[in-house]
Amino acid sequence: MIDSFGRTIDYLRISVTDRCNLRCVYCMPDGFEDIGHDRVLSFEQIERVVRAAVVLGFRKFRLTGGEPLVRRGVVRLVEMLAAIPGVDELNMTSNGTLLEGMAAQLKKAGLTRVNISLDTLRADRFREITRGGDIEAAKRGIAAAEAAGLSPVRLNVVAMRGFNDDEILDFAAMTKEKPYDIRFIELMPIGKTGRSGFMPAHEIRAVLKGCEPLDDRRGVAEYIAYPGAPGRIGLISPISAHFCGGCNKIRLTSDGRIKTCLHSNSEEDMLPALRDRSDEALRRALGEIILRKEERHFIADGMAPIERGMYRIGG
Ligand code: SAM
Ligand code: SF4
Repeated sequence: MIDSFGRTIDYLRISVTDRCNLRCVYCMPDGFEDIGHDRVLSFEQIERVVRAAVVLGFRKFRLTGGEPLVRRGVVRLVEMLAAIPGVDELNMTSNGTLLEGMAAQLKKAGLTRVNISLDTLRADRFREITRGGDIEAAKRGIAAAEAAGLSPVRLNVVAMRGFNDDEILDFAAMTKEKPYDIRFIELMPIGKTGRSGFMPAHEIRAVLKGCEPLDDRRGVAEYIAYPGAPGRIGLISPISAHFCGGCNKIRLTSDGRIKTCLHSNSEEDMLPALRDRSDEALRRALGEIILRKEERHFIADGMAPIERGMYRIGG
């Protein structure tokens, strides 16, 4: 579907839960606030939204959260959504710590790929940033994803000055050994997460001496690589070089709101349309919401960060 600014909108990110087994400091700066089970969309409601989106031309879907793997029965949800004709890609973003026992089932259910968020390779730092997480569980999850064929393995690293900027080269070195995509992402001021530690993508790039640009600008990442390396390095700059002009996505929160821009407080409640039994009414509501999608965000121009914490949006 084409929005009011001529962009093709064909990518829906679906938060399946606000809950998480970790407590990352930049994602939950104020800790975790539970929205309650009764307000979380059922699998059947999520399936209806996806079917409506497919009719509007959406082809790419991603399950996220919170941590999608803590939602009970998530493998069944993957199976339900992957079976819908028109769902070309069904991916997931996960912290990886619960993936070890689930990767093979997820692959079998129809998951295309998984992005794993990992901001450090050091156990003590991992514990600090996640407020108590075990890095070994995340590493076993990455190995399980690779073994299950949820590939290419893609690691998302939020680069933060004074926290993990001294590990940029360690992460990048992984691409010399393995066909991994390592993607460095700018810290975003969301909820109470401030700008302290923000490291613009061009500074991350400056550390990666010897890498060459790849002629492969897929989605929002600019890719570079060491000559001859099997893996690639992505630089994602949502703040310093906002990619709003090419934005093709909208988000569905776990309590049934559509967010047409990550950095806007505006949310559209899908529950009234979901209560209506007509699929036509649901499609119409979704189409009207997309036509109200914002042109761009103004975070780099000093706009105040939005109120909803990242774990309650879906990243
Ligand atoms: N729990 C899953 C995970 O961590 O991958 C999925 C949800 S998490 C909210 C999705 C992504 O958002 C993660 O890669 C996380 O690092 C990122 N994220 C959370 N808060 C952020 C912030 N303030 N700035 C940039 N990325 C953030
Ligand atoms: Fe959980 Fe992901 Fe947020 Fe970390 S970034 S607290 S793993 S939802």
